[in-house]
Amino acid sequence: MMPVPTVVANWKMNTTIHEATRLAVGIRDGLGSVSGPEVILCPPFISLQAVRDAVLGSQIKVGAQNMYSEASGAFTGEVSPAMLRELCDYVILGHSERRQLFGDNDDLVNLKVKAAFEHGLRPILCVGESLEQRDAGRAGAAVAQQLRTGLAGVVDITGLLVAYEPVWAIGTGRAATPEIAAEIMGGTIQGSLNALFGDAAAQVPLLYGGSVNPDNVAGFAAQECIHGALVGGASLQADQFLEIARLTARAKG
Ligand code: PEP
Repeated sequence: MMPVPTVVANWKMNTTIHEATRLAVGIRDGLGSVSGPEVILCPPFISLQAVRDAVLGSQIKVGAQNMYSEASGAFTGEVSPAMLRELCDYVILGHSERRQLFGDNDDLVNLKVKAAFEHGLRPILCVGESLEQRDAGRAGAAVAQQLRTGLAGVVDITGLLVAYEPVWAIGTGRAATPEIAAEIMGGTIQGSLNALFGDAAAQVPLLYGGSVNPDNVAGFAAQECIHGALVGGASLQADQFLEIARLTARAKG
């Protein structure tokens, strides 16, 4: 069976609690008739509760954008997997902004991935090469390395999602082409997961992320090896995100 088609909204450091609630309600109400894809909203931490309440009883799921790897303790300013577990089902880990700006290296991402699994959270593990790595012909190797290290020591990948987000395509308006994405996703990522985890790899949804919008999403979703999208900028407008969900459902239906 094909992995579940999935669209994830990453609101990044945008929306107040009030704005997040309104956006979640808009997406909830608009989604009513769309059946098919799993829809996951990832607001800032402080809006998790409000967004969870807003989508309660709907098909929409909620995720966090990050977390720390320890369950509790003297880690001022951090949020633990145990705390998140009461609020949401998913957590984005290893987003390139975390890697670039906040020091989330592969080893820390690995600790976080393991902690997510231990606490029953579904990790959305983000991988992707920089422009420099792509230009040097090392895109595949970079992504394979991120996957290998990020998933080191993980035995059971049930619940895992992987997002391929080439760094040069995030927030730049310069999306990868479906062919470039498919080369890495169907080749490097699926190949690495198969080699590491065998049959279980076939159930992992692979999401493309990087300047996804209603105009380009169908091209990505048409690729057999792409099961959905991780959406930043366009997920801040309910109508755009809903259109992305609809087009993904149609392509994958
Ligand atoms: C993201 O936040 O993961 C992302 C892909 O952003 P954008 O869609 O804005 O490029």
